[in-house]
Amino acid sequence: MQFADRLQNVETSAIRELFKLLGTPGIVSFAGGFPDSAMFDVDGIREASQRALDEAGALQYGATEGYEPLRSELSAFMKGKGVDVAPQGLIVTTGSQQALDLIGKTLIGPGDKVIVEGPTFLATIQCFRLYGAQLISAPIDGEGVKTDELEKLIEEHRPKFVYLIPTFGNPSGALLNLERRKKVLEMAVKHNTVIVEDDPYGDLYFTETPPPPSLMALTAQVPGSRELLVHCGSMSKVLSPGLRVGWMIAPPALLANAVMCKQFSDAHTSTFAQATAAQYLKSGRMPATLARVRQVYAGRCDAMADALKADLGDAVTFTKPQGGLFFWARLTGANGGPTDASAFAKKAIEQLVAFVPGAPFFAEKPDVATLRLSFATADVARIKDGIARLAKAL
Ligand code: PMP
Repeated sequence: MQFADRLQNVETSAIRELFKLLGTPGIVSFAGGFPDSAMFDVDGIREASQRALDEAGALQYGATEGYEPLRSELSAFMKGKGVDVAPQGLIVTTGSQQALDLIGKTLIGPGDKVIVEGPTFLATIQCFRLYGAQLISAPIDGEGVKTDELEKLIEEHRPKFVYLIPTFGNPSGALLNLERRKKVLEMAVKHNTVIVEDDPYGDLYFTETPPPPSLMALTAQVPGSRELLVHCGSMSKVLSPGLRVGWMIAPPALLANAVMCKQFSDAHTSTFAQATAAQYLKSGRMPATLARVRQVYAGRCDAMADALKADLGDAVTFTKPQGGLFFWARLTGANGGPTDASAFAKKAIEQLVAFVPGAPFFAEKPDVATLRLSFATADVARIKDGIARLAKAL
């Protein structure tokens, strides 16, 4: 069989091999990107799905743009986060992953340049490459993308758009500070550059007060920036990824083209899943769910930070995340310790603990000393046990 040329631009995930080993009995896994199934509000979702079944449209074909009651609920949900968007100003997607695919389909032609963070979400790298993007990597630190460097890259490459995960990035865990957020928007206007904000983790903060507003919320303060901003949201990390409910807020012309492409792809996101999500939001259970999820993940994040410091000492450096699901760490090689995370991952698996090497998350110039550790799925005791095993692997 002769496959399309575009497949030559993507490799199957370099970390897939590693994931095969995760079935090993007794392994403590910090490797996955999943939320903890124990966090799902099963009772609330059950009630919501039962009410959804009583709705006339919930089992029928629906509009490609999304199920109207959900669009209204999402409009209200976003308002609570400082984003003023009418129900017609957003479309529902099958997970935010589909929003990324629709962005690729509608905006990227072969050879088009796109700037992403180094490191960034692996599936985005693969998805944009499938459409022939040439990806350019902008460096980050603990406070997100370095805006001075980003501006230089925009000037040099004139990208089709810039893709950022400003709040608790995957894999970086980094939180873009407020000053840089405003700079990104000013830069967008100055250089007439589209910015895609991927925000599946924004609600998962561990601090008393929420993180800085999303780029989309801040567009209200920077004239001209709203027309250049695309925002992807998701129910996956707080409610359930299995529902496959995400959304995209974008300028009308982009939404219209995305809807056209979505029509040929899946016609619409499952109406039943959308009606269930809408009923859930309407039920008023979300704030309590968010509070519970934040508290549990915050405890696990603390435990991982303490254990990493106590057990691994100066063998790794990291910035403790203020939210999200991930630690991003770097092997220092201190006292003859490892500097290649891929080789170290194999040693770790021998000690029955797993993490993901960081190199595949870079679209350019991989840093082989980096690694990602998820604290989402192991409880505090297993986190301590797992980090102690990592210390043994050292
Ligand atoms: N963007 C980022 C940064 C992610 O980490 C993920 C999930 N791992 C997604 C998008 C896709 O999530 P979903 O399709 O479940 O909304």
